[in-house]
Amino acid sequence: MIQLTLWSISPLLAALVVLGAYMRISPKKRVPGMQALLALIVVVTFWSGCVFVQSVFVDTNIKYLATKLSYTAMLLVPITWFAFAICYTRRQMHLSRLSLNILCFLPLISVGLAMTNEWHHLIWSRLEETPTGGPAGLRATYGTWYWVQLCFSSGLAVIATTILAYALARTTARIKPVLAVVVAPVMVGGAHLFSISPLNPLPWFDLSSLGFAAAALMLDRGVLRYGILETIPVLRDRVLEKLTEGVILINQGGLIIDINSAALAILNTNRGQLSNAQLAEYLEDFALTELVHHSRETLEVTLRGRTYDVTGSILDITDPNSDVVLVFRDVTTRRQTEQALRNAQLELERLAHTDSLTGLYNRRLFMQRLREEAERVNRHDGCLSILLFDLDHFKQVNDRFGHDTGDRVLQSVAKAANDVKRVSDITARIGGEEFALLLPETDREGAMRLAHRLRAAIESAKTPDPGGDPVSITASIGVATVSTGSEDPASALKLADAALYRAKNAGRNQVRRAKPA
Ligand code: GH3
Ligand code: MG
Ligand code: MG
Repeated sequence: MIQLTLWSISPLLAALVVLGAYMRISPKKRVPGMQALLALIVVVTFWSGCVFVQSVFVDTNIKYLATKLSYTAMLLVPITWFAFAICYTRRQMHLSRLSLNILCFLPLISVGLAMTNEWHHLIWSRLEETPTGGPAGLRATYGTWYWVQLCFSSGLAVIATTILAYALARTTARIKPVLAVVVAPVMVGGAHLFSISPLNPLPWFDLSSLGFAAAALMLDRGVLRYGILETIPVLRDRVLEKLTEGVILINQGGLIIDINSAALAILNTNRGQLSNAQLAEYLEDFALTELVHHSRETLEVTLRGRTYDVTGSILDITDPNSDVVLVFRDVTTRRQTEQALRNAQLELERLAHTDSLTGLYNRRLFMQRLREEAERVNRHDGCLSILLFDLDHFKQVNDRFGHDTGDRVLQSVAKAANDVKRVSDITARIGGEEFALLLPETDREGAMRLAHRLRAAIESAKTPDPGGDPVSITASIGVATVSTGSEDPASALKLADAALYRAKNAGRNQVRRAKPA
């Protein structure tokens, strides 16, 4: 049996208005939170349907079932409203899975209790039919758990509304949307509370349907019409997502609150994995406090072969505990260019100091190092020696075997000299076929021993001529030693040159040491 009364109209009206809002929102599913808002609309429509069924069917069992189902739908209203608030304001990463589960735990108990109410009467202590011929609802007296759940739902709705109103107030200069977002849930809650209160003159009629209809109209007029819901987060999202810089919002405990796509790629993760994640899980030894408290301007971090400059700033400078925005700028290419420049500079310096044929140092570097070492000798008690050597009859090598062979002979002499010297000694080619060895911390005897070894090494080094036959060469060597308070470096070189001259005159392939000045 079906009866249609005036009271069946209001849930239909609510469903119609709410579905109107659905049509308006459904094309905007991509806006954060819209899924939750659509879910809220579905829930309210379902609720309206249940209330309609309750009022239309005369059969008590159907009325009972519709009452239980409408109660279940009502439980979901504050939850979906809360979900909308959280998603829209992009705080979802604040909520751990655990806290979400806790949120749903109490309503789940309530659903169970509503379905089994006949056994314990914790939700409805009494559900009576109204007198025959009267309007269609059931008159309810509520049980203990009903009030527990009501407190929970109201609390959740208040929190959600506060979050939304705060977010909207910060992002739009208009007062209307903020008002709408506050007044709409107040109307639903008010209508519902009034319906269950003793003040309600029609205890079998749930005014909430009118509350829903009014709230939907209010949100539609006050918020959706201005396109604020979609423009604000979408604009912000787009800008943030377009940035090539990675942006991460963290609290001062290092918990990641929000992140853009560029930063997800930098951390090589996805949003799903970031629920309740600490930045430290992705960046070890990140000196966050130094960055936040400005003891450092930027931090450089390297992640998977790329280098980033990270800057950090507190969101709200009036609150030292407020969240922190980190901006990651990829500076890999810049660093690579800088490194290439540094390398080029080093290479230029090396070339400026190097003899290209033998790879030994050139005269300029030799003189520079000789000055430095002489200064050191004068500062501290110590000594240094110089070996100056010139190849014997080298012109004949060129004349007989050609310039190329001459070059290779020069190279093998350079190698022989490098092989006998110690690590700290410096070998240089200071003229065409004239070489020098700088021997720091080496006295006369040490230098003479090295000179004899060098002479022997050059004599035994063989370079193949164009026909493959070995070319021999010898060198004459002059040795000079500088100690504290003695000659200046330039004169030391002259002394070594004089000794070399004597070695040549003594028949070449000889070692001579300088006579003390
Ligand atoms: P001495 O024993 O008196 O030193 O006789 P020398 O022939 O070695 O001396 P001289 O100064 O007459 O000749 C030096 C020669 O070294 C002349 C020059 O062609 C040759 N020379 C200088 N630089 C190079 C070079 O880079 N490559 C080659 N192949 N020869 C060079
Ligand atoms: Mg010579
Ligand atoms: Mg010479």
